[in-house]
Amino acid sequence: MAEIIDGKAAAQEVRGHVRREVLEFETRYGMAPGLATVLVGSDPASATYVRSKRRACAEVGIASFPHELNERTTLDELLALIGELNRRNDVHGILVQLPLPPHLSAQQVIAALDPRKDVDGLHPVNQGKLVQGLPGLRPCTPLGIMFLLERTGLPLAGADAVVVGRSTLVGKPTAFLLLERDATVTLCHSRTRDLAHVVQRAEVLVVATGRPGLVRGDWVRMGAIVIDVGINRLPDGTLVGDVDFAAASSRAAFITPVPGGVGPMTVAMLLRNTVEAAKRQMEGQS
Ligand code: NDP
Repeated sequence: MAEIIDGKAAAQEVRGHVRREVLEFETRYGMAPGLATVLVGSDPASATYVRSKRRACAEVGIASFPHELNERTTLDELLALIGELNRRNDVHGILVQLPLPPHLSAQQVIAALDPRKDVDGLHPVNQGKLVQGLPGLRPCTPLGIMFLLERTGLPLAGADAVVVGRSTLVGKPTAFLLLERDATVTLCHSRTRDLAHVVQRAEVLVVATGRPGLVRGDWVRMGAIVIDVGINRLPDGTLVGDVDFAAASSRAAFITPVPGGVGPMTVAMLLRNTVEAAKRQMEGQS
């Protein structure tokens, strides 16, 4: 039976570390690291996410600056706000909650962020740095995935790693982070031929598709580490991942549950990125 990777405990560990770093930052610079959150419109799920991020900031001592704009906000108005936040010295990180209403281009808004304050790691400069293996802010969920993988203690160098899903938010950056750790990486998507066959090779398997039960238990290699990023709500209200958890658990060495696996890590890594961004700005690094 697989060992369950406890994302909640890992996230607590990261938050504890961040709390100590915030105290050090305050002692040194006389101010707290600051995160501005920008929410446009009234999507209830987005509002919940933003609230939980702000609560998490408060718990570790990060100052949060909430901005809630109405659904009809224009691109010019939003870009003006981003410009102002870019200039403020007490704001070290800016989080624009996605998705934006359809009349606003997420790409344009993210490109307007000061890359040093892009704590979601989605600005083209930060994504370019990731591809080039240069230091920069990395996307939060992939960072959380890597933290959980490293916590298993199994070596990643030379391991056969398969990532299913190629989004800019999760799949692609995870593939590059695995490559940075010297894994041999295969990146799969909806056009991959014979997915089962590719997945069966994986010593490290990361699945981020948003398709409940896409990866069957018998596809999982004996002794694999399985990281299930998917969060899917079934009609009866239960949350499940993209991997058939029960069947996969009997073959994997380690597996993340849904909920309680990758989910809690994403917010923890946002906090870590905010402190990291604040320190770099105070030290004058790009
Ligand atoms: P996207 O919808 O942006 O991307 C999904 C990816 O899955 C695409 O690359 C798509 O391929 C691929 N895919 C879809 N169907 C198949 C299939 N049948 N076989 C192989 N690949 C397939 O999703 P995200 O990356 O944003 O999110 C993925 C999941 O992770 C969602 O459930 C989301 O809720 C969850 N998530 C969880 C987070 C957390 O904190 N735990 C954070 C972010 C996301 P193609 O490119 O060809 O279309």
